Amino acid sequence: MTDHKRILIVGGGHNGLVCAAYLARAGREVLVLEAAERLGGAAITRSFAPGFSVSACAHLSYLLDAQIHRELKLATHGLKWAHSNLRTVALAAEGEPLVLNGAQVEGGKLGHDDADALVAYRRRMLRFAQVLGRQHNRRPPRIAGGGREEVIGAAKLGFDIRRLGRDSMREFLRIAGINIYDVLEELFESPQLKGALALDAVLGTNLAPRSNNSVLALLHRLSGEAMDAPGGLALPAGGMGAISDALAHAARASGATLRTGAAVKRITLDGDHVSGVELENGEQIAAGVVVSNADPARTLLQLVGARHFETGFVHRVRHFRAKGMAAKLHLALSGLPTFKGLQASLAGERLLVAPDAAYIERAFDRAKYGQCSPEPALEITIPSVHDASLAPQGKHVLSAIVLYAPFDPRASGDVARSELMENCLQVLERHAPGLRQQVVASELLLPADIEQEFRISGGHWHHGELALDQLLMLRPVPGAAQYAMPLDGLYLCGAGCHPGGGVMGSAGRNAAQAVLKSERAA
Ligand SMILES: Cc1cc2nc3c(=O)[nH]c(=O)nc-3n(C[C@H](O)[C@H](O)[C@H](O)COP(=O)(O)OP(=O)(O)OC[C@H]3O[C@@H](n4cnc5c(N)ncnc54)[C@H](O)[C@@H]3O)c2cc1C
Repeated sequence: MTDHKRILIVGGGHNGLVCAAYLARAGREVLVLEAAERLGGAAITRSFAPGFSVSACAHLSYLLDAQIHRELKLATHGLKWAHSNLRTVALAAEGEPLVLNGAQVEGGKLGHDDADALVAYRRRMLRFAQVLGRQHNRRPPRIAGGGREEVIGAAKLGFDIRRLGRDSMREFLRIAGINIYDVLEELFESPQLKGALALDAVLGTNLAPRSNNSVLALLHRLSGEAMDAPGGLALPAGGMGAISDALAHAARASGATLRTGAAVKRITLDGDHVSGVELENGEQIAAGVVVSNADPARTLLQLVGARHFETGFVHRVRHFRAKGMAAKLHLALSGLPTFKGLQASLAGERLLVAPDAAYIERAFDRAKYGQCSPEPALEITIPSVHDASLAPQGKHVLSAIVLYAPFDPRASGDVARSELMENCLQVLERHAPGLRQQVVASELLLPADIEQEFRISGGHWHHGELALDQLLMLRPVPGAAQYAMPLDGLYLCGAGCHPGGGVMGSAGRNAAQAVLKSERAA
């Protein structure tokens, strides 16, 4: 029954597409099965009101792996930037906005030594982030056993930390597991600057600035910059879907077949070896290898089924922490909003509402107990400033990450959604008076909506929290951290694997290599 030649990839998110492209380039017969009607998963551009399109989940590129960009020739396959190396603006309801451009800072209210401290902070954090970045395209070593290759893998990781030098290594180990609030308190005076820097550490996580692991999450975010992500912090022309489109183009050009509207109901087995999949419509497709881009819990517990794994393993998968806390706001606007104190030429940069770290912490407090933040922190982009394809002439589209929205709010989804929408509009109006009157259409996706639309269990940005206990050789869980699952022929390739989420592609590339390597070993 098993067709040993074909490789099936469940899910055509960007990681599934990267995996497909590498396997097809290696001459394998690859078929991608994507449940949605379009490819890209959480990296798509879609319309949400007549004439207005938006990057529906991910809205900024900052992690895309440079090696993948080069090897898959994404520029040749159509990827262009509408705007690259964006600056970050910390908006101010009163006073002057603060503008960050790498290590340079202008405007705002700064403490006496803050500008110099920022240069030193960025240099140090980027060095630390590079330690993580160097691991992106490597399979994490096993915790124990596995022979020479595993020992070499572990040695490489140790060496990357060691070569920071004694003082930096000590500092890296001191701060990696602690919280960003304490680190920023040690270094800076300006609440405005600390607010902006703290937001970077918690975007997309279930963490607030005082939560442990927030430094680690920041290093993950900075690892793109540390490894020279193409475009830096960038807006792809045509929205984030353009990255997925280029990847799909690359995969097809290498010979992969990509099917949409093909939801996989279950992964089928022949004894303890995968034999293919069954689609929701009853169609059966045989294969010797199945690689899943779906999140770990969905793949292992729903598509395969807990009964096929050992109890301890199932227990670990069930306890993989994956509840999202970020919502996504989309506004169609009749004109460009005017933000207080901001030159119009900066409206197309990355705009933050995070006036200080305590503001973000307070926003988290309510969400911890099932309520949406009354005063949410926001990461805002208005991509139509640089990209006319997204909105009718003279009109604009605003896309914002909203912190925080619980996965399972105490109120019903509809009530929570309309409350949070109102809270967002109030916060926006405070920074851009008159914005409310410019809104012609709107959409707010709570984590539960993201779960439903994008099929990400828990609606989590990274398919699972980024934390010491869920990183590297522990991601998603011990026994499944090398892409191969404890079932012959089954692999994971999505953000729930090392090195985590964000539109990066490394999990897809590493998984493809794991498949090819196991073929060679067979
Ligand atoms: C609100 C939000 C904002 C974000 N913002 C950013 C950002 O600005 N920048 C950034 O870099 N990252 C951002 N991210 C994170 C980023 O979008 C994700 O980490 C990344 O897109 C995950 O890619 P993936 O390919 O691993 O998985 P996904 O994109 O989740 O793709 C998985 C695919 O599998 C498909 N699938 C699932 N089950 C089945 C099935 N049974 N049958 C067939 N297909 C199936 C899904 O439909 C989906 O297409 C954001 C995430 C969220 C939620």
